[in-house]
Amino acid sequence: MKLKTQVGIVGAGPAGLMLSHLLHLQGIESIIIETRSRNDIESTIRAGILEQGTVDLLRETGVGQRMEREGFRHHGIELRFDGAGHRIDFPSLTGGKSVTVYAQHEVIKDLVKARLDAGAQILFEVKGVGISGLDSAVPKIRFRKDDTDCEIACDAIAGCDGTQSICRPSIPAGVLTAYERVYPFGWFGILCEAPPSSAELVYALHDRGFALVSTRSPDIQRMYLQVDPSDRTENWSDDRIWAEFRRRLATRDGWAPKEGRIFSKVIIGMRSLVVEPMQYGRLFLVGDAAHVVPPTGAKGLNLAVADVRVLARALLEFYRSGRGDLLDRYSESVLRRIWRTQRFSWWMTSMLHRFPDSDAFQYRVQLAELVYVTSSRAASTTLAENYVGLPME
Ligand SMILES: Cc1cc2nc3c(=O)[nH]c(=O)nc-3n(C[C@H](O)[C@H](O)[C@H](O)COP(=O)(O)OP(=O)(O)OC[C@H]3O[C@@H](n4cnc5c(N)ncnc54)[C@H](O)[C@@H]3O)c2cc1C
Repeated sequence: MKLKTQVGIVGAGPAGLMLSHLLHLQGIESIIIETRSRNDIESTIRAGILEQGTVDLLRETGVGQRMEREGFRHHGIELRFDGAGHRIDFPSLTGGKSVTVYAQHEVIKDLVKARLDAGAQILFEVKGVGISGLDSAVPKIRFRKDDTDCEIACDAIAGCDGTQSICRPSIPAGVLTAYERVYPFGWFGILCEAPPSSAELVYALHDRGFALVSTRSPDIQRMYLQVDPSDRTENWSDDRIWAEFRRRLATRDGWAPKEGRIFSKVIIGMRSLVVEPMQYGRLFLVGDAAHVVPPTGAKGLNLAVADVRVLARALLEFYRSGRGDLLDRYSESVLRRIWRTQRFSWWMTSMLHRFPDSDAFQYRVQLAELVYVTSSRAASTTLAENYVGLPME
């Protein structure tokens, strides 16, 4: 089966769906292909913190109604150390900005619905995906769908296929440089059925390591513990998990997390990765396909959406006036924000985790940094303005 479109999109994550949505609003056609089923992408629980700019974009482009009804606006976070919590108030430090807790799979549901309602083609459960002709004017995406060989000929391909991208390694050897940092710890994440333990997220540094109290909905809570990356979920009984959360999150006034049935346990590695450049010929890498941040700064999804904004604008200019210079500069434009976001995510990670080689001196320096961040308006502002999202350039 031979198909033709303007922009071929590989991957129906937040990046691919948002790109297709923005292009549609600008009168540009696209087809999305996705290896997983619709049900699978709409039910996988991942990120959940939306920066102010992401929220504004969803609202302005007509896909924010449910987020406005069901999302929770958070006006700050708590940094907890030495047995006490210290609040960072976002609106007073950033001119009124905040973040919204609205799960990534809910964003996906809203975007899939909007795209399908508008008559878009999203081809789910495709297999054997490959791309070719990247340095020609008509690059192609090949795949199998329901045992039929298919090919999409397009003007440009957006590689929105996440960390296991097949688009990234389709770029000839020697073109890309990868900058990577692997952290010597992982996050043990649980999802549990319980009411929220706190009104806002709690980031805690304890002698035994980092802990995070986050949320996905009024009934489902997401919590994380720093662990050895080679640890296994089988080593952690529910009792052991709750005892460790109580220990790392304890305050002098007796705070304890609200406990409930744990229905998901996962250990995720922590790394930072950027590949440069993020384009080759008519292929443009977007989101996790080109960069990964440790989740401490809650930036992965937001950064993917920021890439999309820039690429959509460059494609609009290309189709409207034939100008290719914005497309040529796509990688250069997005990398400025990506590196600033990498810096923030690395800084939050370094400040809040115990490193295996860190001694008592290092721990005291980390505590002193937390005291500074929570007591100096200038330092609190640095955290707040990065957390709610830097302005788009
Ligand atoms: C367990 C987990 C927890 C996370 N928690 C957080 C968090 O708390 N906060 C945060 O900010 N970020 C978090 N992230 C990161 C965040 O979810 C990602 O940054 C975000 O999903 C990036 O969006 P994306 O569209 O670039 O990639 P993805 O969401 O990965 O989407 C890529 C899509 O492409 C599809 N695909 C892959 N290969 C192919 C192929 N060959 N052909 C067609 N389709 C393909 C995939 O099935 C997927 O649907 C988490 C990630 C994980 C894995």
